[in-house]
Amino acid sequence: MLQRKVCLIGSFAVGKTSLLQRFVYSRFSDKYLTTVGVKIDRKIVPTSRGSVSLILWDLAGEDEFQSLQTSYLRGGAGFVVVIDCTRNETLQQARTHLDYLDEEHPTAAKVVFVNKIDLESSWDLEQSDFQGLERRYSVYKTSAKTGVSVEEAFHALAEAMK
Ligand code: GDP
Ligand code: MG
Repeated sequence: MLQRKVCLIGSFAVGKTSLLQRFVYSRFSDKYLTTVGVKIDRKIVPTSRGSVSLILWDLAGEDEFQSLQTSYLRGGAGFVVVIDCTRNETLQQARTHLDYLDEEHPTAAKVVFVNKIDLESSWDLEQSDFQGLERRYSVYKTSAKTGVSVEEAFHALAEAMK
């Protein structure tokens, strides 16, 4: 079976670990999930070219923004860049990450998750804030808490990977 490495990327506490918990184990916890070092999960997803085993890499660290280490990203066929819709600054950080990925991994598939959309009352983003991103990437509004669009977004990534 095809195996493909997928890296979750995004600022501290945007919901990377929670999105993987939702996608792989169909669960959610309100408790903060501290990830130590790198955690790797797997999930097999169907694509039009047959099943693909996704090797899902989740990176921890206080300073995740700084720690986009080459060794973590190396060999990545797909990248999930996560934004927290309740913190506007995470959008700018995502743009920086995407610019870096386009430079270093131009042929890899990239998707953007605008996460925590269940927290409607706390939205700190306007639709227009990420319109620019929507012209260049597939953008999914997700919630690790309710599960909305999570499965769909990972499947779209799997489909887009070479
Ligand atoms: P990470 O640092 O990017 O891995 O973020 P975590 O997955 O640890 O999540 C940080 C916090 O946000 C935790 O308290 C989660 O329970 C919470 N969280 C993550 N995703 C969602 C979501 O979609 N909705 C809500 N309401 N909370 C979320
Ligand atoms: Mg985490």
